[in-house]
Amino acid sequence: MFSWKLFHSLRWRLQAWHGLILLLAIAGFGGMLHWELTKSHWDRIDEELLGAARILEGSMNAVPGPILEALSKDIISRPGPRRRPPPSGDRPFRDPLANAVDRNRYARQLRGPFREIFVRGPHRTLICVGRPILGDQARMTTMTWTMIVTGITVMCIGLVGGWWSSKRAIEPIERMGQTAQRISGHSLSERVELAGFDAELKSLGLALNTMLDRLSRSFEQQRQFTADASHELRTPLAVMLAASELALSKPRTAEEYREQLVKCQRAASRMRELGDSMLTLARLDANPVLEMQPFELASLVEDAVDTIRPLAEEKSVRIELELESCKLPGNRSMLRQAIDNLLSNAIKYNVVDGTVSVRVKRSEERVTIEVTDTGVGIPAAAIPLLFDRFYRVDESRSRTAGGSGLGLSIAKRIVECHQGTLSVTSNLGSGSTFLIELQAPEKVPDPPT
Ligand code: ADP
Repeated sequence: MFSWKLFHSLRWRLQAWHGLILLLAIAGFGGMLHWELTKSHWDRIDEELLGAARILEGSMNAVPGPILEALSKDIISRPGPRRRPPPSGDRPFRDPLANAVDRNRYARQLRGPFREIFVRGPHRTLICVGRPILGDQARMTTMTWTMIVTGITVMCIGLVGGWWSSKRAIEPIERMGQTAQRISGHSLSERVELAGFDAELKSLGLALNTMLDRLSRSFEQQRQFTADASHELRTPLAVMLAASELALSKPRTAEEYREQLVKCQRAASRMRELGDSMLTLARLDANPVLEMQPFELASLVEDAVDTIRPLAEEKSVRIELELESCKLPGNRSMLRQAIDNLLSNAIKYNVVDGTVSVRVKRSEERVTIEVTDTGVGIPAAAIPLLFDRFYRVDESRSRTAGGSGLGLSIAKRIVECHQGTLSVTSNLGSGSTFLIELQAPEKVPDPPT
C-alpha cells in the first residue's frame, strides 16, 4: 500500500523531484520537436500542392474566359468526385478563400484522407489541388510513437540513473549515521571514515570528527576529574575513620578524645575546602558568563594582600606592592578568589624570609596582575600540566601544605571567564612569576585624586 512515509525519505524525495523535472524536460522537448516536425511536414505538402495549383492557374490563364465559364458550369452540374465543391442549392457553397488571410491568397483544408489547397483562378474560378495523405499520416503516427517510446526509455534510464546517483550521494550520510550509532560514552574513539567522500560531505564528516574529538577529550577529562576527586576525598575520609575507630576502640582520657577529634575536624575542613573548590569549578564550567561590574583593581589586590599578610608573617615572607590604579569591569569576588589562590601559593611554596611582589599595571591594551615569588620554583616539565585539575608538582610537599591541586585551575578558569590569560614563568630553585593579562576597558576613567 502507498505510504506517505516514503516522502520523509530524502532519497525518495530526491527521486521524486528528479523524476518530475525529467518528465517536464522530456515532455517539453518532445512536444516541441513533435510540433515542429509535424508542422514542417504539412508545410512541405502544402508547398507541393500550392506549386501544382500555381502551374494550373498559369495554364488556365491561357484559356479564354467564356470557355472557362462554360467548363466550370459543366463541372458543377455533373456528378463528380467528392473533391469538387458541392452544388449550390444542396448545401450553400462556402468559398474557402472568403476568409483566407494569407498573403498569397490561398486556403488549405484537411478533408478525410485528403489535403487540399484552394487558389483563386482566372474569371472567378476556384482551383482546388489535393492529394491523399494516408501515407503521410501513417508516417507521422509512426514518428509520434517512436518519440513516445524514446521519451519513455530516456525517462526510465534517467530514473534508474537518478536512483543510483542519489544512492551514491546518500551513502556517506548513512555511513556517518551508522558510525554515530556505534558511538557511545564507552566507544568515543570511533571516527567517520572520510576516504571517498565528496568535498561537501567531507567537511561535514570532518566537523563531526572534530566534535567527537572534543567530546572524547571532555569525557576523558570528566572521567579523570571524578577519579581524582574520589581519590582526594578518600584520604581525609580515611583519616576521619581511623581517628574515630581509634577513639572508640577503648575508653580514653578527655585529652586523647580531643586529639582524635581535632584530627577529624582537620580532615572535615579539608573535605569542605575540596568540596567548595569542586563546586566553584563546576559552576564556572556550567556558566562561564559571569556577572560583571566595574571595580577598582588596585584596592581589590590591596584587600587580598591584607587578608593573607598574617600567613606571610608566619613564614617571614615579605610582601611588596606596586599598584597602578585601574578601574575595570569584572566579577570582583571571582577575581579576588583567583588572586587569593596565586598569593597563597606564592607564600606556601616560598622559602623562609622570602619575598612576594605583587604588581598591577595598565597600558592602552591591557591590564596585568603579576605575582612573583622567590620560592622553590617549578620544574620546566611540570609547567604545561600546572593548570590541570588536581595536578601537583610534588604530591607530598603540596599535600602537607594543604593543597588540593585545584587552586591554579580555578584561577585560570576565572581569568578565562574574563577573556584574559594566566601564564607562568619559573626557574627551579629561584622562584616563579604568575601573570594575569586582562583586556583594558576602552576608556578607563581616571580615579579621583
Ligand atoms: P595546590 O592546592 O596543590 O597548591 P594549585 O593548583 O594551586 O594546587 O597548584 C598546583 C601545583 O603547582 C602545586 O601543587 C605546586 O606544586 C605548584 N605551584 C603552584 N604555585 C606555585 C608557586 N608559586 N611556586 C612553586 N610551585 C607552585
